[in-house]
Amino acid sequence: MYSLGKRLAWLEGPGATCEKTNPVPPRAWHLVLLGPPGVGKGTQAEKIVAEFGACHLSTGDVFRHAARNLNGKAPSPAMAIALAAMKRGELVSDNTVVELVRERASCLACQYGFLLDGFPRTIDQAHALDDILRGVGSKLDAAVNFFAPEALIIERLSGRRVCKQCRTGYHVANKPSRVPGRCDACGGELIQRDDDKPEAIRTRLQAYAATCNPVLEYYRKKGLLREIEASGDPDAVFAQTRSAIQKLA
Ligand SMILES: [Zn+2]
Repeated sequence: MYSLGKRLAWLEGPGATCEKTNPVPPRAWHLVLLGPPGVGKGTQAEKIVAEFGACHLSTGDVFRHAARNLNGKAPSPAMAIALAAMKRGELVSDNTVVELVRERASCLACQYGFLLDGFPRTIDQAHALDDILRGVGSKLDAAVNFFAPEALIIERLSGRRVCKQCRTGYHVANKPSRVPGRCDACGGELIQRDDDKPEAIRTRLQAYAATCNPVLEYYRKKGLLREIEASGDPDAVFAQTRSAIQKLA
């Protein structure tokens, strides 16, 4: 079992050094993780890290880390551009996301291997990733795509609740509060965010499919795509994930 470790080179970009607490795994796996919101990709990522020792490189984590700015350091150049766009209420452009990953290219050549999560999200990003990997003499072993029926994803995501007062998260099935509709921590009212309403989820899934389908097709043509049915419980899904990765050896 490998632990997550502090991936500072990924989170902070050039100049940061990772805390290498794990032993170097026997093989460095180079994987891309794909799958819509609500499919359980995050849980599978944790399990892959624990089993194969690869670094979990999530672009979401990069943004969250920068937003917290715990050590008061100046953001990397691409992150400075991204933060300025977010401050203006704009989406971070494809190009800036690519530059954020390019700044962290050394992570894609690291002896621990990598598990890219949240990137590439578009076909342009997929092309850019190939270019970045070429630049550091690395290449992908596989793109692992998790899928599940839309109805199941909507059921999972629409069960989320959040406390109106303290923002603690709950789930009606997986993490219920002790008193229905009331926060365990502060007694506040639990609400469903607009984003978690079925119609909004459906829209998000459609937007995801529109940009991601070309990425799937791209990796399918290259023979790199591995598809995992992710409807079952996380351990059963991971049994499939593990076997798909082991078969790449
Ligand atoms: Zn609360």
